[in-house]
Formats: sequence, C-alpha cells, structure tokens
Amino acid sequence: MRVENIDEVGHEIHAFMRHLFPICRSITGDGIRETLARVGKHLSLDVREIPTGTRVLDWTVPPEWNIRDAYIKDRAGERVVDLGRSNLHLMGYSVPVRETMSLSELKQHVFTLPEHPDWIPYRTSYYEPSWGFCLAERQLGSLPDGQYEVCIDSTLEDGFLTYGECYLEGDREDEILISTHACHPSLANDNLSGVAVATFLAKHLAGASRRYSYRFLFIPGTIGSITWLALNEEATTRIAGGLVLAGLGDPGRSTYKRSRRGEAEIDRAAANVLRHAGDHAIEAFEPYGYDERQYCSPGFDLPVGCLMRTPHGRYPEYHTSADDMSFVKPPFLADSFAKCLAIVNVMEGNRTYRNLNPMGEPQLGRRGLYGATGGSGVGDRMAMLWVLNLSDGDHSLLDIAERASLPFDLVRGAADALEAGGLLEER
Ligand code: ZN
Repeated sequence: MRVENIDEVGHEIHAFMRHLFPICRSITGDGIRETLARVGKHLSLDVREIPTGTRVLDWTVPPEWNIRDAYIKDRAGERVVDLGRSNLHLMGYSVPVRETMSLSELKQHVFTLPEHPDWIPYRTSYYEPSWGFCLAERQLGSLPDGQYEVCIDSTLEDGFLTYGECYLEGDREDEILISTHACHPSLANDNLSGVAVATFLAKHLAGASRRYSYRFLFIPGTIGSITWLALNEEATTRIAGGLVLAGLGDPGRSTYKRSRRGEAEIDRAAANVLRHAGDHAIEAFEPYGYDERQYCSPGFDLPVGCLMRTPHGRYPEYHTSADDMSFVKPPFLADSFAKCLAIVNVMEGNRTYRNLNPMGEPQLGRRGLYGATGGSGVGDRMAMLWVLNLSDGDHSLLDIAERASLPFDLVRGAADALEAGGLLEER
C-alpha cells in the first residue's frame, strides 16, 4: 500500500478540513450529523442514531442539543457577541436563555483567556445544565457598563446520539480499529485533523487489498466510545490493534501514546515507524487523554494507542480560537497520514518465517539476491542477514526489525526477496 503523491494528499486533507471547519458541532445534534454526511461523501459510512436515555455502560445517552442562534445585544440593540461570527462564543450545551441583565451579572457567565487577550476559549458543559459565553479578554474589557440582552436559542430534547462507522472487510475477521472524535466546533487541529486524516485513510484502504478488516469510528468524544463499546462488546474481541487519531496537523513532532498493554503489536509497530522517521516522542499509557481511555479501561483493555503530534493541552492554541485553519498545515497532515499508513503497513506485513537453508549462510550472490530489494546499501544486506538469522519460526519480522534496529519496511523488503529466492517459508 503506497501513496504516489503524499504532498497532494496533505492539500486534499487540508481542503476537506476547511469544508468542515464552519460547522457548529457538539456531542449530539445536527452539527455532527452534517459533519458525518460530508465524511460519507468520501466513504461508505453507516450513520448510527442512539436514542437519548439509552443506558451505555455506566453512562446514559444525553439529550440532543441543537442551537439556532445566540447573541448578546447592547442597549442600542447591536449584537456585540454573535454566534454567527464564531461558534466558539457559545459554551457547548448551553441551556436556553432569554434575559436582560447588567454587565456584572453577565460576567458570571463569561469565560476569557487573560493570558491570550485576543483568543476566544472553547468551553462546554455537557452533563451539568448551565449556560455561558466565551469572549476574547480584550472584547470583554471593551464592553461598557449597562444592560445587555442575552439570547441563547438552543434546544435540549429527547433525540439521538449520532456517530459514523465505516467497516472495510479484509481477508481476516481480525480488525484494526481507527477512532477519532468529531464533536468539536470550529477547532482545526483538535480535531478536524483527526477526522480528515481518518477519512482519507479509510478512502485509501478501501482501494487496497487487506489482510485485516478495518473499522473506522467517527464519534463524539468519551460518550461516543462508551456508547460504541456498550453496543459492540462482542466485536471488541476481534480488535487486533487500534489507533485513536487526534491533533495531527500542528507543527510539533509526532507523538505516540502506548496502549495500556504497553507492548502490543500496534505499540511496537508505531514505535518502529516513528523511530525511523525522525524526531518523535513515545509516551507510556496513562488513563487521561482521548478515547483510548475508554478502549483501554480494564474491562476491555484493548490494544489501542493514540497517534498525535503535540499532545492535548501542551500547546497554547489548544481549545482556543487560535486552533484555526492557519494553525494546521498540509505538510504536517501529509506526514501524519503517511505515518498512519506506515503503521497499518507494519500490521499488514508482519509475519513469521522459517529459513529453509539454516545450516551456514546461504550463498546470496549465486541466487542473485545481492541488491535484490532495489537498494544495494548496507542496510539492505544487513536486513537480509538478520531475516535469515532470526527466521526460525519464532521471531516475527517486527521482532527482527526491533532486534536489528532497522525500519520495518526494509526488513519486509528483504523477506520478500528471500521468499522469492526460495530461502524463506511462512510459518
Ligand atoms: Zn478537545
């Protein structure tokens, strides 16, 4: 599975994010529905609607939230704050409000970021009925005392939790899970980058031959993974590895957070890819972060890690209006996409072989195997020697790549050449 023009893919992913960016999303409602409809133009997506009140593990599907309009008007009747200007202005899941109040009363419901006076923070209150507005500190400071008319034209009613699922059948029933949260409003890196990279990954894999089956989930954070797990407990037993994708377009280095198991095949695949691709970080599991928290809860303990660039909360733009389309760049998106694909390729290509000529080294030159992998570098030769030496039926190609400190691709290429030369047999 190779992508011919990776730069072009970075631009396509960025363009798709721009298309999704203006939508006012939340964990339920028409914003996430519209987002899934647009994802569904690229792949075959099953959209599931789970009714409000459904018990899911220890949680309950909340009321569906929709928003028609929200504003703050000054005495002259001018909208000084308007949802139409930025959907971050409204705290997500705000209850309906229609009131006139003084500035000091209003301020009890206003959030700002004093350390970044021009940025609007992102706030939600999903599980506690409340309302609020988010403003740039500078704008709040410019509001004169007086009476303000506050309107939040929202609905919180029995409805549905909506998520999208794309299943790609492979040769085996075992699955690779790719999960991404699609519940944030106009925020680019967190997490339209994850949504768009997952979309293009699914699109690419749909056209490739697959040993594994693949399941892509486009879900609201936390409640979405809990809902999916509650309804699909049986399917979880087939998950051979998985990735939560989030924050894939910022300029930081790639970060992989290991699954709770720590040394699952997917953890080792991701570590091999990142190690040989340059500057990166590999972090141990902790029960905080994105939906890997749910997949790695002890009752499931699935081999699911998280691929990001800069982890959440460690860049100032995180959860603010500065996480916009200028913060994410096509080359970083392309790089993240290529790494996802490379990790998938390790999972697809990791097999165990037996050396058919284990008594002494076989004569490679006589079989035309010097330079047979396309390269004539020392790495290629070393990869062949390592594969021959460790292919005793016990070591997988990933074991060999780790032991030899070589990129998996190189080891896979050497095994292909040796198999074609009649020196290896799959166990
Ligand atoms: Zn977030």
